[in-house]
Amino acid sequence: MSEQGVAVVTGASSGIGAATARRLASEGFGVVIGARRVERLRELAGEIEAAGGRALALALDVTDAASVEAFCAEVAECRVVVNNAGGALGLDPVVDADVEQWREMYDTNVLGLLRVTQGLLPQLRASGDGHIVNIGSIAGFEPYPGGAGYNAVKFAVRAITQVLRMELLGEPLRDTEIDPGMVEIEFSLVRFGGDEGRAEKVYQRLTPLTADDVADCVAWAVTRPSHVNIDQIVVRTRDQATATMFHRD
Ligand code: NAP
Repeated sequence: MSEQGVAVVTGASSGIGAATARRLASEGFGVVIGARRVERLRELAGEIEAAGGRALALALDVTDAASVEAFCAEVAECRVVVNNAGGALGLDPVVDADVEQWREMYDTNVLGLLRVTQGLLPQLRASGDGHIVNIGSIAGFEPYPGGAGYNAVKFAVRAITQVLRMELLGEPLRDTEIDPGMVEIEFSLVRFGGDEGRAEKVYQRLTPLTADDVADCVAWAVTRPSHVNIDQIVVRTRDQATATMFHRD
């Protein structure tokens, strides 16, 4: 399909996923982009094609096995998969945690990653140089009050990435975990159920990472020589020291 092969990006309708699709296309990958908001995907695919890239927009709900199966069946070849679909819901302490929110986070961030990875492994293997990139978070190793539900799923992403590296040893397959700190996108709006005031406060008086900063990490990891496995990249704004410590002007 193109010079670098095909990269599949899940959750590409906004934020880090959209920025990653744009960036990988500009690096010479043909991109297959998936998410539930297909209109947004089509716009992005149009934008990528107008810039001279190759893009295929396909509906994908990573929580729905039939949707993942149909999506993967359309992907004839795949050298890179970026498991990005996911996010956080709520910031309640454990005692008040909403079980449904936790279930939804698990289904998207963990089982979604599993479904897509299983679905694309044949194509990744066939590429002779497959690469699985999982978008984790600093929440995957830095617990914080109110974060337990999200911490739990990103800890899980971390475990899966590390176990996969052991299980795939000896095959022409790499895997990488990218763990961003705070990134300014719709993420906080989703977390706070559309409460714009609350979402805006998160980014006040500091310079957050942008989705492009994270896309840059993905692009770097997948363009190393075949024998080089970038295990993990932790990336945060200079204004953030830990999950809860920020410098605000
Ligand atoms: P975002 O703008 O809310 O993007 C989330 C993406 O996931 C959207 O494209 C959404 O598309 C997709 N998605 C959600 N549920 C899905 C489902 N069931 N099936 C398919 N796609 C689904 O937020 P983002 O920050 O870019 O999030 C991307 C990843 O980065 C997530 O894994 C998140 O945990 C991680 N992350 C974010 C930050 C941050 O501060 N923003 C920090 C560290 C890690 P549709 O709604 O159209 O399906």
